[in-house]
Amino acid sequence: MDTKATSSIVEKSLDPQDWDEMRALGHQMVDDMMDYLQTISQQPSWKPMPLEVKEFFEERLPESGQPIAEIYRDFQHYILPYNKGNVHPRFWAWVQGTGTPLGALADFLASSLNPNVTIGEHAPMYVDRQVVNWCKQLMGFPENATGILVSGASMANITALIAARNHFDKRNIRKHGLQSIEGKLLMYCSSETHSCVQKAAEAIGLGSDGVRKVSVDADYRMNVDELEAQIKSDLAAGNLPFCVVANAGTVNTGSIDPMARIAAICKEYSLWFHVDGAFGALAKLLPEYETELAPLAEADSLAFDLHKWMYINYEVACCLIRDASAHREAFAIVPNYLMSHDRGLASGLEPVNNYGMELSRGFKALKVWMSIKEHGINTYRDLIRQNISQCQYLAELIQDSTHLELKAPVLMNIVCFRFTVSDLDTGKLNNLNKEILMHLHEQGIASPSNAVLNGEYVIRVANTNHRSTRADFEALVQACEEIGSKILKSSQIKPA
Ligand SMILES: *Cc1c(COP(=O)(O)O)cnc(C)c1O
Repeated sequence: MDTKATSSIVEKSLDPQDWDEMRALGHQMVDDMMDYLQTISQQPSWKPMPLEVKEFFEERLPESGQPIAEIYRDFQHYILPYNKGNVHPRFWAWVQGTGTPLGALADFLASSLNPNVTIGEHAPMYVDRQVVNWCKQLMGFPENATGILVSGASMANITALIAARNHFDKRNIRKHGLQSIEGKLLMYCSSETHSCVQKAAEAIGLGSDGVRKVSVDADYRMNVDELEAQIKSDLAAGNLPFCVVANAGTVNTGSIDPMARIAAICKEYSLWFHVDGAFGALAKLLPEYETELAPLAEADSLAFDLHKWMYINYEVACCLIRDASAHREAFAIVPNYLMSHDRGLASGLEPVNNYGMELSRGFKALKVWMSIKEHGINTYRDLIRQNISQCQYLAELIQDSTHLELKAPVLMNIVCFRFTVSDLDTGKLNNLNKEILMHLHEQGIASPSNAVLNGEYVIRVANTNHRSTRADFEALVQACEEIGSKILKSSQIKPA
C-alpha cells in the first residue's frame, strides 16, 4: 500500500462546499426569474440607473470570495432592476428579440453540461448539427448545403463573405492573400445595408472603398439598374466584382431588395449572391412573403439571426452556404492536436471549426433545439404574422392620430414615424422627436429607438417581440401625442 501522507494535502476545487445551499439558491433563482418574466408587463420598460448603482460597478478586482447568497442579493439589487428591457412587451428598439422562459432554462442546462461543441463524439455535436439542418429546411436550402451557428448575424455575414472572397475565381486567396490578385475585388450592396457588412468587408481586406453602395428607391430597395451599370463600369475599368449582398429586411425600414433580379445579375456576371436576412429572412415562413423571398433559397449564402425573429435567447445566428466545399475550403485546417480518430471521444462528426473562425463554441444549439420542439414552426409563423399585423395596426393608429405621421412605408415589422406640427422646421422637429423618444424611455413607457431617413429624425418601432399586444401600441401612440404636446406647450421647442 502507498503510505505517502496524501491526506495532509488540501486540494481545492471550485465546487460548492455546501451543495444543499447551492441547490436551494438555484431553486430560488428559477422561482425569481419565472416571477420576473411572468409579471414583466407590470414593470417599467426601462429605468435610469442611479449614481449609487453605477458606482457599485467600480468595485476593484476581488481578492477573496464572498458568500453566494450575498452575490445573488447584489444581482437582485444592482442588476435585475436595471435590465435592458428587451424582455418587456413595449420594447421595440433596434432589432432585438425577446427570449423565452424555456430558452433560459435550456441555457442553464447547456451551461451545466458545458460541452465545447467543436469536436468529438458526443450528443451536443449531434444537436448542433440537427439545428443547422433545421435551419436549412426553414430557409429552403438543399440538404447538402453546410452551415454553422454563430453568435449573431454580424458573425454570420463575415463567415459567408470570407467564403465568398476565398472562392473568388478559384485562385488561392487563402494561401497567397489578396495582394496576389491583380485588380481590386469589389462587393456590392445597397446604401441601406447594415454596418456589419461594411465592417466585414474591411476585415477581409477589401477596404471600405471595395464596397460599392448602390442607391435605393422610395421603398428603400436597391436600384438594380444602377447595380448592373456599376458592375459593368467596374469590369470595364479592370476591377474584380465578386459578390452582391442583398437585404431581406433592412435595419432601418425592413425593406426587401429585389431578390430575383439581383440573383439573375449574380448569375449573369458569375458573382456570389449573399443575403443578409438578419431578421427579415424569417418572413419566408409566411405565404404572403413567399414570392418575394423565394430567391433566398437560391442564394450562395444566407445570414440570419435566431435571437431576433425566432425569439431565441441571446446569442445565436446561422450562416448557411450552398456550396459545401467552398465553405469547407475557406476554413478547414487540421493541426495534429485536432486529429480525428476512428473510435472513442475524438471520433465522430467533422469538427465544426472547419466551417468558421471560432474553435471553442458553447452549446447554443440546445436553446434553439428545445424552443423549436416546444412551439413547432407553425407557432413561429403565427407570431411573425402577428408582429407584422401589429405594425399595420400601429400604422393605422398613427394615421388616425392628431400629430403623428408615418415616415416610411410599413413593409414588414418596422414602423418609422414622427410627431409633426406645421410651423416647425426640420431641425426643430428632429429635436422635438428626439425629446419625445428620451421621455418615452425615461418614463418607462416604451422603448422604441430611432432612425434618420433623408435627414429626418424618426421614431422607429421594430417589432420582434412575442409579448407585445395591440394595447401596447395604443399606449405608445397616446404617450407620443401627450409628450409631444406637452413639450410644445412648455415651449422648450419654439416655432421659428
Ligand atoms: C441586427 C442586424 C445585423 C447584425 O446582427 P447581430 O445579430 O446584431 O450581429 C445585420 N443585419 C441586419 C439587417 C440586422 O438587422
